[in-house]
Formats: sequence, C-alpha cells, structure tokens
Amino acid sequence: MTVTLHHDDLPKNLDLGNCIAVDTEAMGLNNHRDRLCLVQLSAGDGSAHLVQIRPGAPDAARLKAVLSNPKTTKIFHFARFDVAILRHYLGVECTPLYCTKIASTLCRTFTDRHGLRDLCKDLLDIEISKQQQVSDWGAESLTPEQLAYAANDVLHLHALKAKLDALLQREGRRELAQKCFDFIPARAQLDLAGWPEVDIFAH
Ligand code: MN
Repeated sequence: MTVTLHHDDLPKNLDLGNCIAVDTEAMGLNNHRDRLCLVQLSAGDGSAHLVQIRPGAPDAARLKAVLSNPKTTKIFHFARFDVAILRHYLGVECTPLYCTKIASTLCRTFTDRHGLRDLCKDLLDIEISKQQQVSDWGAESLTPEQLAYAANDVLHLHALKAKLDALLQREGRRELAQKCFDFIPARAQLDLAGWPEVDIFAH
C-alpha cells in the first residue's frame, strides 16, 4: 500500500480512472459546525491519495473536478455523510455514486452488521482498525497512524463493491440498489437543510 499526502488539492495530471473510492474525515459529524479536514481517494490499485484541506485553503479545483466528473463513479461507505459534507464545503455533487453500506443492507439481510470494519472482515477477510476514527483530523500535521487509517477507509472499497455487486445480482436487488444510490444526493440535501433525523416518508 502506498499513501500520498497532498495539501489543499490534488496534483496536476493525476489519473485515478473512472471508478474512484472516496472517503472524508472531519472535525465531527455536524456539517454546519465541523469542518472538512481530509478527502481520501483511491483508484482501487492499492494506493491512496489523501488531500488535507486546511482552514482558509484555496479553491480545490482539481479535487472538485474529479469528484463531480459525471463519467466517474465514486464509491463510498455511508455515502450520505460524505456526499453532504462535500456538497457543503466544496459545492460539488458527487454523482454517479455507489454506497457499500446501502448495498450491504440490501443484500446481506441475515445480519445488521454493515459497518466498514464488518464488511472488510466478512467479505474480504481483512481486519481494519477503527481506532483513529475519533482523532483530531484538524491537526496541522497528521500522524502516520492517522494517515494509515484514512487510507484504509478507501483501499478496500473496490473489492467490496465487486463482492456486493455479485450478492445484489444473486438477490435480484441491483436495480433497487441503483435507485437508492441515485437518491443519496437528495437525502444529503435534506440532512443539510434541517431534516437530518426525520424520515420524510414516514406516516
Ligand atoms: Mn473514514
């Protein structure tokens, strides 16, 4: 695994292909309060590119172009959060997209364990640590442990997608999954607009 740290934007001429794993780290889970600190990307080739977004950073033009490219599928785990924070801080719509958590929820109905750690263990037999999850992502210089953790959150998403696509196919739920992925930007907008906990479809 190779991890490359960039500051405030992606480097010029970096080609990550047409299917990119994406994750974010922030100061917390409240998008109106807690700033975006890090955006992680991987082409699924065992290497991760981490973009540290510093306070007052200039416009991350290349990063935004990659995230909003309509020809590039973005794979997330729990896309709802990342799509909302990327919309709020970078003004990008990360479509088309895929969410491994939703895919797992739709095809692995025998379990309620759909966390990234659970999926890596159950589907790939890979142990990942979630120890750094609650660390200070706003720090000026991130620790080697934080960088390794952040990279791990994107390095396995392509392999998970392949496994989950096969399961969705087997269970006849690919089309439903796609419809759910297509709805995520609207769900993220509801989160940002003030309906984070409310199911607007509920009676
Ligand atoms: Mn993460």
